[in-house]
Amino acid sequence: MPGFEFFGEEEKKEVQDVLDSGVLMRYGFDAMRNGHHKAKELEIAFAKTMQCDYTQVVSSGTAALTVALATAGIGAGDEVIIPTFTFVASFEAVIALGAVPVLCDIDDTLTLKPEAVEALITSKTKVVMPVHMCGSMADLDVLNKLCKKHKLLLIEDACQAIGGTYNGKQLGTLGDIGTFSFDYVKTITCGEGGAMITNSKTFADRAHMYQDHGHDHVGTDRGAESHPFLGYNYRISELNAAVGIAQLKKLPAILDIQKKHYTILRDALAAVPGVEFRRVPEGGVESYAFLNFFLPNEDLARNTHKELGKAGIDAAFYWYDNNWHYYKKWEHLLTPMSLGKLPNELQEGLKRNTSSYPNSDQWMSRTVSCLIKGSWTKEEVETRAKKLAQSVSKSLEEYHSTSI
Ligand SMILES: *Cc1c(COP(=O)(O)O)cnc(C)c1O
Repeated sequence: MPGFEFFGEEEKKEVQDVLDSGVLMRYGFDAMRNGHHKAKELEIAFAKTMQCDYTQVVSSGTAALTVALATAGIGAGDEVIIPTFTFVASFEAVIALGAVPVLCDIDDTLTLKPEAVEALITSKTKVVMPVHMCGSMADLDVLNKLCKKHKLLLIEDACQAIGGTYNGKQLGTLGDIGTFSFDYVKTITCGEGGAMITNSKTFADRAHMYQDHGHDHVGTDRGAESHPFLGYNYRISELNAAVGIAQLKKLPAILDIQKKHYTILRDALAAVPGVEFRRVPEGGVESYAFLNFFLPNEDLARNTHKELGKAGIDAAFYWYDNNWHYYKKWEHLLTPMSLGKLPNELQEGLKRNTSSYPNSDQWMSRTVSCLIKGSWTKEEVETRAKKLAQSVSKSLEEYHSTSI
């Protein structure tokens, strides 16, 4: 998945434009900037790539989620349903607004289980937020219907699935708002950066103001602009946006390589009896950022992950034990542990989260994930595929011989 593997002369040239003018900020200084508006240029190009009406580029994926929720009018005590398997940014963004992240079970798509979502809906629920982890998506048709029925917004966290599609549409465009991260390990990177996309003019208008202290961006005198509502600073710098322009041009090539490498690994693994793959909902096409597979039980998944390490296969993840991506290690959310006092509505609301999600555990304890890199040579991918299949077979055989 990492776009940094493709960092090269194109990125340097874009950054050099910014350095030549010395204007590192996206707003103002028009006389000095030699006509360069990198953040704006990235927004136009991204909206075109995503085939959506509006893009707001911001300083991170976490900022994109925060701006998305803020523009949707989410505030104190509102409930946002998020999956138990995600990156901590999902709940951080919700908490930042004083709203309540309500954890929800996942299914074999490795994201929101629609029946579990429906069971959690209350009069306080405002948003359902599927997180398209590791390159593949939730059952978006079902979730969209659910959101319409209960008058909720659907906000897609597509930070790990850029380039994936569903019913022919780009992930991130199927709900009301979509969010992306361009941090250093994502499919394309700005170093640090993110984007929020939408087809709603209202949300887009609110977003550009909210991420810049509430500036209405009317006129040419920044100091004289008015502020229709409160905002914060989630702006991206021109230097980061410049990197993103070059990276976005490489996205189709990166996706092609991901697909090719993924397919070689998957074909090798598909020949091993006992291995199953994560379910991709009908109509969905993965971004191929990761290859995710299930072993028959937790012991086997743990053992397989260990075998992969022994065989020198790097970038294989056992998310079940991970501090940052799975609820089991989120005592700082569940307790919660914050430096200062949290709003009362939030403290109360967090009690809704139990500490037990058996469906999620059932799937995650059996899941092993392999990151797909773009820099592998053909020989490296083929060797990796062979070793992967051998290690997984070995792990399964050992298990069966000891358990008989
Ligand atoms: C990376 C990531 C984010 C946050 O992005 P940052 O740019 O690192 O703040 C949010 N959600 C998911 C699923 C991510 O993988």
